[in-house]
Amino acid sequence: MENEVLIFGHKSPDTDSITSSIVMENLERKLGNENAKAVRIGNVNKETKYVLDYLGIDEPEYIENIADGQNVILVDHNEITQSVDNLQNAKILKVIDHHTMNFVAPYQLYYRAEPVGCTQTVLYKMYKENDVEIDEKIATLMLSAIASDTLVLKSPTTTAQDIKTVRELEKRFGLDINTYGVEMLKAGTDISEFTPEQVINIDSKLFEQGNKKFRIAQVNTADLDSIFKNQVYFEEAINEDIKKENLDFYVFAATDIINSNSKIISLGNDAPVVEKAYGISIDNHTAMLENVVSRKKQMLPPILNALNGDINL
Ligand code: MG
Ligand code: MG
Ligand code: MG
Repeated sequence: MENEVLIFGHKSPDTDSITSSIVMENLERKLGNENAKAVRIGNVNKETKYVLDYLGIDEPEYIENIADGQNVILVDHNEITQSVDNLQNAKILKVIDHHTMNFVAPYQLYYRAEPVGCTQTVLYKMYKENDVEIDEKIATLMLSAIASDTLVLKSPTTTAQDIKTVRELEKRFGLDINTYGVEMLKAGTDISEFTPEQVINIDSKLFEQGNKKFRIAQVNTADLDSIFKNQVYFEEAINEDIKKENLDFYVFAATDIINSNSKIISLGNDAPVVEKAYGISIDNHTAMLENVVSRKKQMLPPILNALNGDINL
């Protein structure tokens, strides 16, 4: 359809990206934008599938790229490297996000990013501000994304506003983030049917800083050993990707959702930047990051700082 407004989150979509597109589509439609349409730009992961199955909601339609001049709304991201192909030729109407801003557009638009743990915490406020009803499905989508992004409110990205949102939704709909959220997270740790290449791409983000290009990929697990017994295969997949995308380095983090630690594999010519960033020594390409669970708040900033400090690394 000609006037469609496509709403989507980032590549390698997580639960926040998928559910925020759906929740934003509903908000837009309730406010009279009948052309709003949630889509996705990557495969739905198992955690998100658990949520959609639980609610009996279909996956948003997959799109590979967009036409020149396409009207779009971005949720849960703003960086072009994480978005749909040909975004530079789209007309971005709105951005609803909770990430560091690396965005510029030569026209006016609605841009809203708040320093909270999840896009859905921002959307919850927008529903209230616009007096749009939150039904049980929308509430569960919101709660799911907050549970996912904050690891059931345990990640340091969690803010008082995320907690308040969860408590209000729990109370109104009789939901319980601790039982439901942990089941949902566990559903997302099942990688039994995946190739190593698929596993590293479940939640992988590409970053560029200065003249350096790198990825930080993350996978949740309830059992680090089950991941690291296959380390050699993951290294093969990571090295392939480094070659293919010309990356300077790559961090693959397996995050233990029970004990709130992450064990990383770090590869690439500039892997020493990772040691410097985290103040650790990497042994056999791996290191344990104690109490580190958040890519946004704990894994990425030290790397950006290290790169800024010494761009010749
Ligand atoms: Mg996300
Ligand atoms: Mg998010
Ligand atoms: Mg995430």
